[in-house]
Amino acid sequence: MDVVVETPGSQSSLHRANLERVVRAVRLAGSLTQAEIARSTGLSAATVSNIVRELRDNGTVQVTSTSSGGRRARSVALSGDAGIVVGVDFGHSHLRVAVGNLAHQVLAEQSEPIDVDASASQGFDRAEQLVARLVESTGIHPDKVLGVGLGVPGPIDVESGALGSTAILPGWSGINPRQELSDRLGVPVQVDNDANLGALGELVWGGGRGVKDLAYIKVASGVGAGLVIDGRIYRGPGGTAGEIGHITLDESGPVCRCGNRGCLETFTAARYVLELLRGSHGDGLTVPKMVQLAREGDPGCRRVIGDVGRHIGMGVASLCNLLNPSRVVLGGDLAEAGELVLGPIRESVSRYAIPSAAQRLSVVPGSLGARAEVLGALALVLSEMGDSTLLDGNTPVDTPAFSA
Ligand SMILES: [Zn+2]
Repeated sequence: MDVVVETPGSQSSLHRANLERVVRAVRLAGSLTQAEIARSTGLSAATVSNIVRELRDNGTVQVTSTSSGGRRARSVALSGDAGIVVGVDFGHSHLRVAVGNLAHQVLAEQSEPIDVDASASQGFDRAEQLVARLVESTGIHPDKVLGVGLGVPGPIDVESGALGSTAILPGWSGINPRQELSDRLGVPVQVDNDANLGALGELVWGGGRGVKDLAYIKVASGVGAGLVIDGRIYRGPGGTAGEIGHITLDESGPVCRCGNRGCLETFTAARYVLELLRGSHGDGLTVPKMVQLAREGDPGCRRVIGDVGRHIGMGVASLCNLLNPSRVVLGGDLAEAGELVLGPIRESVSRYAIPSAAQRLSVVPGSLGARAEVLGALALVLSEMGDSTLLDGNTPVDTPAFSA
C-alpha cells in the first residue's frame, strides 16, 4: 500500500472519518442493518457496504443475517471481543456492578447491600473487588476493559469528577470519586449522578426507547430528574439541571434539607412519606412495603401514594411547561405502584401544565427497575468513548446482537 501523508481533507482522512461515523452509529445503537447505517450516517449504500466489509475484515464489527420488515438484511454490531465496558452504581444502600460488551450485551451483573454513606474507602474497596470478580467471571482479560461508567447518588461535577455537595454523602468528603475509581482500576472513568444515568439507561434499554426528549424522575431518599433533550443528557454548566426536588410547592411547608420550605422533596421523599404512616402503620415501614400494602388494597398506603403522585405531578407540570418532553419515566421503588401513582401524576399534569405541553406527554413506569442506573453507566461509556481506539484490528467472533 502506498504511504499516504494524512492532511485534513485528504482521501485517507475522509475515509478514516467515514469509518469512525459508521463505528459510532453502531456503537450507540447496539446493532443496525446496513440500510439503517446509511440513514443514520448520511453515507451512500455503496460506501456503507465497503466500510462494513473493511470493518468486518479487520475484526471491529461482526455481521449476522437477520430480517428487517420481512426482507433479509445484514445486521452489524461491534465485535463482542473488541472490548468490554463496566458500570458501577453506588446507591445510598447498595452497590451494583455490570459488565457489558460493545454489542450492548450484559455479560455479568451483581448487586450487594452496602452503607455507602458510612465510608468512601470501604465503598471503593468493595467496588474494586466486585469489578475484578465480575470481569474474571466473563473469561475476558482485564486489559480489554475500555472504560468504566460510575454513578453516584448526589450532585457531581462531570468535568472535574468532584462531588457538588458533601452534605449528601458526608463520608465521601475530600474524595474525587472519578479519580479514586480510575486510580484503583487503571482505566478511564466517566461519572454522573444516579438520575442522569437512570435517564440514559431507560433511554437506551428501557421505557424511554424511541423518544429523543424525556425526563426520568426518581423518588428515593431525595427526588431527582434526569433530563434528555434531543437524545443527550442535559446537565447545565454546574451539573445541577433536573433538581426538581427543590421546586417550592408550599412556602410555609416543612423545612427542607436545602434550607427552603415546602420543597417537592418534603412531600414525596421516603422519610417524609413514611412519617405520615407512622401513627397508623407503626415503625419499620419501608417504601417497597408501603407499595406492596397499597397494591393489596390498604387505604392509608393508597392515599399517601396518591398524594405523592399528585405532588410529583405538580413538579412534572412545571417541567412540561419549560421543556415539553414527550415522555416522563418514573423510576425507583415507587414505580412499582403502577397506576396508583401514575394516575395521580397524570391528573396533576393535566391540571397544572399548559394543555399544549401536556397533550403529547406520556407518563410511564421505568422498565429496568433497580438496574436502570448501572445500565445507564454502561450506556454512558458506550456513548462517550472515542472510536479511534476501536479501529485498531480485532478478531471477528459470533455473538447475538443485543440483550440486557
Ligand atoms: Zn429543598
